[in-house]
Amino acid sequence: MKSQARILIVDDDPIAIHLLYAALEETGEIYFATGGQQALAMLSLHPADLVLLDAQMPVMDGFTTCAAIHRDYPEVPVIFITAASDLTSEIRALEAGAVDFISKPISPPVVRARVSAHLKLKEQSDQLRTLVTRDPLTGIANRRFLDERTMSEWQRAQRSGAPLSMLFIDIDDFKAYNDRYGHVQGDSCLIQVAQVIDRSANRAGDLAARYGGEEFAVLLPASTPTQAAIVAEKICEAVRLLAIPHDRSRANRVVTISIGVAGGVPVFAGKEEMESADTVAAATDEGFRAARDLFDRADRALYAAKSSGRNCVRVDPNSVKADD
Ligand code: GH3
Ligand code: MG
Ligand code: MG
Repeated sequence: MKSQARILIVDDDPIAIHLLYAALEETGEIYFATGGQQALAMLSLHPADLVLLDAQMPVMDGFTTCAAIHRDYPEVPVIFITAASDLTSEIRALEAGAVDFISKPISPPVVRARVSAHLKLKEQSDQLRTLVTRDPLTGIANRRFLDERTMSEWQRAQRSGAPLSMLFIDIDDFKAYNDRYGHVQGDSCLIQVAQVIDRSANRAGDLAARYGGEEFAVLLPASTPTQAAIVAEKICEAVRLLAIPHDRSRANRVVTISIGVAGGVPVFAGKEEMESADTVAAATDEGFRAARDLFDRADRALYAAKSSGRNCVRVDPNSVKADD
């Protein structure tokens, strides 16, 4: 089981915070905020597993705070605390994304029981999210997560006019590596290479994923193909520096990779166009096609890198033209 659950209590009344703290101190690690803005600021620094939120607070009330938490941290469950059980508040809170209610005056056993039940659900949904988005062998993102992120980043780039690049990476002569050193060592090599790639994609928004087998991809938002090629060269070098012996490689005496780079600036879609319902569907379609095209171009550049002798980086020629 993972370490202690983190519970954020948000209430403008210090006595209420004290009571909830006393009820829950055995259940998890507690931290608190006395207002909505402070709660959001804290969540950005310390993610919570559960939020207990007072409905009535000055400045930013519980409903507004709940909606903001639900928008920015959809995976964090919020339990509302209301002064009395009042149907209108319950409906408003559920609409704002709350998962449950507790009414004041609070009963410690009820608070503990509800909180424990929701923490259990949160733990299960965290495990499911990990299963769905991570590659089990290397621990980095999987292809499904990369595909989704590529689409959403393409749409974001379309709105902002920023560039977007993609690296396609393949380990050189990896079949020969497995044949020579065995699959267990092959797996260990994959893990080390994945970690190097993941560490190299270290800017906010960068995403490294295992695409399948011994293939990886890196999504680099806000990077031109030229900038992406520099990152690619660094990754190639970092993998060589792992110095994993590979005496059956045609490219080197150690394990190496080849990288294809593609990218560009998505065509800007006007704000009004993006907001009309028809165009949202069209934009999703277009995002999907564009993301596929980006993969295809990076894959062709990778093929060029393989044809040029491996252990090198090649950039898709159309991407370079679009760079400036
Ligand atoms: P190239 O330089 O052209 O990429 O040659 P290659 O031998 O790397 O390419 P090929 O596609 O022929 O072989 C890929 C190999 O990757 C074959 C497969 O056994 C190995 N492989 C794929 N997934 C895994 C895995 O999860 N673990 C291990 N150990 N090997 C894997
Ligand atoms: Mg391959
Ligand atoms: Mg290969």
